[in-house]
Amino acid sequence: MWLKIGTIFRIVSVKISLYTKFEMKNCIFCQIVEGKVPAKIVYKNKDVIAFKDINPIAPVHILIIPQKHIESLSKTSDKDIKLLGAILRSAANIAKENKLEAFRVLNVNGEKAGQTVKHIHFHLVGGWRNVSLKMESDPEGLRRSQ
Ligand SMILES: [Zn+2]
Repeated sequence: MWLKIGTIFRIVSVKISLYTKFEMKNCIFCQIVEGKVPAKIVYKNKDVIAFKDINPIAPVHILIIPQKHIESLSKTSDKDIKLLGAILRSAANIAKENKLEAFRVLNVNGEKAGQTVKHIHFHLVGGWRNVSLKMESDPEGLRRSQ
């Protein structure tokens, strides 16, 4: 029996949609966005939410995420350019609120790079005194160089 292309497309779309909903339900960051998991939220607007990292690697360590579930930076598209810009502007605003003269904004993309939560997030880290950090090739290296 032959299925029409439109029918196949609808079946695939429904499966993708159900998979995304399954991912979101099991995503700790989506649960923070929905208020189901507590977090120390420091910033929130209609697109972005930011909260303190529970395992800080610096005196100030804040995670900035989109409220929309996107797995990683490499899963973004041109439709997300405005959202990505909003995240970076949020980082600058949060840094200013925390009186950070110098800071880093880091994104870890993919499991092999050390991404542990599959919801795109940016680490805003700073607040060190008299420390000059070297760029490390892995996130754990950053932890060691403090
Ligand atoms: Zn999520």
